[in-house]
Amino acid sequence: MKFFLSVLILAFLLNGCSPETETGKLQVVASIAPLAYFAERIGGTHVAVSVMVPPGGNPHSYEPSPRQMVRLGKAILFIKAGSGVEFELDWMRRLLSLNHAMRLCNAVEGIRLLPIKHDGEAHQDERYDPHYWLTPANGIIIAKNVKRVLISADPDHREEYAANGAALEAELQLLDQEIHRKLAGLKNRRFLVFHPAWGYYANNFGLEQIAVEDEGKTLTPRQMQRVIEKAKASRIGVVFVSPQFSTAQAETIALEIGGRICSVDPLSPDYQNNLRRATSAFIESMR
Ligand SMILES: [Zn+2]
Repeated sequence: MKFFLSVLILAFLLNGCSPETETGKLQVVASIAPLAYFAERIGGTHVAVSVMVPPGGNPHSYEPSPRQMVRLGKAILFIKAGSGVEFELDWMRRLLSLNHAMRLCNAVEGIRLLPIKHDGEAHQDERYDPHYWLTPANGIIIAKNVKRVLISADPDHREEYAANGAALEAELQLLDQEIHRKLAGLKNRRFLVFHPAWGYYANNFGLEQIAVEDEGKTLTPRQMQRVIEKAKASRIGVVFVSPQFSTAQAETIALEIGGRICSVDPLSPDYQNNLRRATSAFIESMR
């Protein structure tokens, strides 16, 4: 609490005396990099977008820096994932209290969240899977949400935001078709991931994600053994890891199944190409 108060005071002081570095641009802050992509595409030349969780940072455990809090003091818009990412659950209220004029865009609005699966079964009483942004279909809804809030924050550029949003939605529609086409006809539709970030993707494209990790917890030897057996039974040869997580356990599994690890990023700022890259990697692993 003491730390937080001093940050507040610091934010206040710096706000009063530091010059604007990117004059004329609307300052937008996004929780995670994929959401920044939407703000950049739709806001175009009118926005300067920054991201809270840095590249390689883990949104399930990240804490914002004092410098980022200062930056928030100048933002007109904050885009949150809104799906229960721990960083937001822990910090959102405090971040919003730093800047009462800042608007909030809840990127998840209108998206149907899926329950987290444990050992292939959904448990009703528990949290939702937060990684909804990893399908182009949900990307279209995110684009609409960002467009709407940008227009209300800066109505002078309404036409540009509307046009940029429409162009992006059309691209995402094509990307959705492209991925469906690429995945069509694959017989083996199971892939093994360490961190369970690709559940929406799997659900959307008729694949089955087998996840090693259960929401950040390290696996017990017994759980490891179960995953290894399941992977062997499904003749899986690749364990997908993401840059945000340690790969030690994934490497052990890869060794046990005589396979390899491969990295796919659920938090890439290069949203569309990243989905293409992940698709190619999944296809190669399922062949
Ligand atoms: Zn995650």
